[in-house]
Amino acid sequence: MSPRSLAGRWWRSSPGSRSASSRPRLRQGRPAAGARYIPAHVRRAVWQRDQGRCTFVSESGRRCEARTRLEFDHVTEVARGGEATVGGIRLRCRAHNQYQAEQTFGAGFMRRKREAAQGEAKAKATRDVREGDDKDVTPWLRELGYRADQARWAAEQCRNLPAEATLEDRVRAALSMFRPRTVRVCHG
Ligand SMILES: [Zn+2]
Repeated sequence: MSPRSLAGRWWRSSPGSRSASSRPRLRQGRPAAGARYIPAHVRRAVWQRDQGRCTFVSESGRRCEARTRLEFDHVTEVARGGEATVGGIRLRCRAHNQYQAEQTFGAGFMRRKREAAQGEAKAKATRDVREGDDKDVTPWLRELGYRADQARWAAEQCRNLPAEATLEDRVRAALSMFRPRTVRVCHG
């Protein structure tokens, strides 16, 4: 190539080339937003390990009975370096998730402790009343990473489980629909 073709017209003809360095970066700001993201495979493994039940254990050693309104909780808070791994995530009911956060961060701890006790009684009453609604596995399957159409399909297959089947039973049965070579499915 000749020096003339490099140093000549080509550079002069692109005065606006600085824009290349100032173009917006699509991924800017994403890492902070993704810090709380929990991958679907982690959610599924945590759900199965914790058996679809809150993992809070009281001072007397009694484990919380809650199987509804569960949340995926970071064992160590994201703000303190907690990671979204199977070992770093656990199931907690909403009341215990909030309770733990207050305890860890110390804000209004005693006040919250009283409220948590009251809240738990209320939550139990609400659970008892709404037990029927909470047997719908579709939102859980969505939470566990399945598409809406897959979730609806699996929920439909499990519709005929006995009325006494818990939400956990239903989610387990629905999950078995997605496992290849698993023959045992919902009993009608
Ligand atoms: Zn709980």
